[in-house]
Amino acid sequence: MDVKSNLQHIHDRITEACKKADRTAKDVSVIAVTKYVSPERAREALDAGIKHLGENRDTGLLHKLEILKDRQPVWHFIGTLQTRKVKTIIDHVSYIHSLDRLSLADEIQKRAKKPVSCFVQVNTSLETSKHGMTKEEVLPFVKALTAHENIRIIGLMTMAPFTADETELRNCFRLLKELRDDVQQLEQWNAPCRELSMGMSNDFTIAVEEGATFIRIGSSLVGNEIGGGQR
Ligand SMILES: *Cc1c(COP(=O)(O)O)cnc(C)c1O
Repeated sequence: MDVKSNLQHIHDRITEACKKADRTAKDVSVIAVTKYVSPERAREALDAGIKHLGENRDTGLLHKLEILKDRQPVWHFIGTLQTRKVKTIIDHVSYIHSLDRLSLADEIQKRAKKPVSCFVQVNTSLETSKHGMTKEEVLPFVKALTAHENIRIIGLMTMAPFTADETELRNCFRLLKELRDDVQQLEQWNAPCRELSMGMSNDFTIAVEEGATFIRIGSSLVGNEIGGGQR
């Protein structure tokens, strides 16, 4: 399928989910996750009207960045970020979705030339394979960042488990939203925390119903040229 038709279908489903939840579709931004596809395919997504692109590796990001620089997409770093890679990506990304430890925050603080919009990644399921901090760790972590003037905690991010169990998915998304509200209530100067980065190809309609403001869509939007499983 071409990206344009895929995007149309996704927008229809977002609109429907928003209607159910009494939200407006304008409040949901779609990040096209291009990690499985070529820069040409990523360009197709931009042609279809996508503004946000997401990559999970520094190499993939730098490669596409160069080829697509005429288009100036908004880049999101969505993968596990090794501390030593911060300096290679920091000048190129507008958002980091995987802030999950103090050493990483320290490195971003040190390397960034201006404030970076960050999501704290939370492990909302009990799956041990998922990255992110536990729910108990979130508030102390945010409070530990009051002197990090190059970090803006704009929201929280989670990856739900790969399951068809709707209740389980919904519980993960609800937990993230509760935590988001808790961080907001700190009223910490660098943690406005209004955003929720949650929802992927398999679960984005539920995420939108539960309040997602950024959804990260790869395979069902641009496809998966590398083959194999979706995640
Ligand atoms: C790959 C990836 C996605 C997109 O996954 P799809 O299921 O293909 O939509 C979203 N978020 C993160 C963090 C990813 O690594």
